[in-house]
Amino acid sequence: MNPLKAMPGWKDKILFTPGPLTTSRTVKQALLRDLGSRDTEFIETVRFIRRRLLELGHVGDAGYEAVLMQGSGTFGIEAVVSSTIPPDGKLLVIINGAYGHRIAKIASILKIGVVKLEYPEDSCPDLEQIEETLKHDPAITHVAVVHCETTTGIMNPVGEIGGIVHRAGRVYFVDAMSSFGAVPMDLARCHIDYLVSSANKCIEGVPGFSFILARKEPFLKTEGYARSLSLDLFGQWKGLESNGQFRFTPPTHAILAFQQALLELEAEGGVEGRAARYQKNYQTLTAGMSGMGFQEYLPRDRQGYIITSYLYPEHPKFSFEEFYRRLNQRDQVIYPGKVSNANCFRIGNIGRIFEADIRTLLAAIREVIDEMGVVL
Ligand SMILES: *Cc1c(COP(=O)(O)O)cnc(C)c1O
Repeated sequence: MNPLKAMPGWKDKILFTPGPLTTSRTVKQALLRDLGSRDTEFIETVRFIRRRLLELGHVGDAGYEAVLMQGSGTFGIEAVVSSTIPPDGKLLVIINGAYGHRIAKIASILKIGVVKLEYPEDSCPDLEQIEETLKHDPAITHVAVVHCETTTGIMNPVGEIGGIVHRAGRVYFVDAMSSFGAVPMDLARCHIDYLVSSANKCIEGVPGFSFILARKEPFLKTEGYARSLSLDLFGQWKGLESNGQFRFTPPTHAILAFQQALLELEAEGGVEGRAARYQKNYQTLTAGMSGMGFQEYLPRDRQGYIITSYLYPEHPKFSFEEFYRRLNQRDQVIYPGKVSNANCFRIGNIGRIFEADIRTLLAAIREVIDEMGVVL
């Protein structure tokens, strides 16, 4: 099929996934331009974005810096791990899902000393154990945790962990990829030194870059720590500070789209407004799914409103592949699970989706399980 011919009638499927997500038409339209990387308009856009990101983290005037990094979210995480930990540093990673494991894997590939505290995917970390571990291993210099573990949708207590890390005098790193922009977050109050998120999650931009919010005090001491040229966080920041430019080709289109996405976030009432829409999506989803007899993987009190994991129905006629395929034919895209000890699928509440979209999805799920002969 000729893709140009397909355009006029094109209608995208709706993505109930952890990212990339459904974006607004106006965000997509914002990237229909070509700007040079040294163009003053582009440099102004980058400056606007960096300032606005700090404000979203409640640190607009509190000693933090925002750095944009080409690549997906993992590139931003790798930039922090590879370039803020000193040569003799050691990282404690608190793990209760696949993204926690990924942070530890990045550190071990870089031959950085790692200690892991692992918890089941449906459980929150043990705060006392974190405190004890820091007390008994003075070699640990940095601590990392994931805010919303997108593996299941569980929310980790980043503020309480931050208090422990701060009292122990260590540097604190939070992967807030799937929560930033939709869950209120005050970096200074949570004692977060480095936070990473990306363009295509709750701020509802298109993929192309990640961003790092860094507390200046520890960050400015990291010059020379980088173990990679392209992911050198300090080098990237210096480039942005000196002339407003990226060191290497910037994702100009993704940045234009992101500027538009930030304006739309503001128009929606900021983080609180977006949180309210996602919560409504979540409530509509969980009420509808429970009404049909689907079981959630996590207990309700640990679940966030970002993404929900459902256990496969125990019925011989249920097959995830078939369920997925039939929903996909109806333009509804859900996501497979990632939990190690249970068969799950996931439904995201994030992106440019509204209560009416969730109702459409629920109606499609009803039709599909009836067609398949699955009785719940
Ligand atoms: C999406 C996500 C990432 C990054 O994934 P990329 O595919 O590299 O964008 C990292 N951590 C969490 C918690 C995520 O949800």
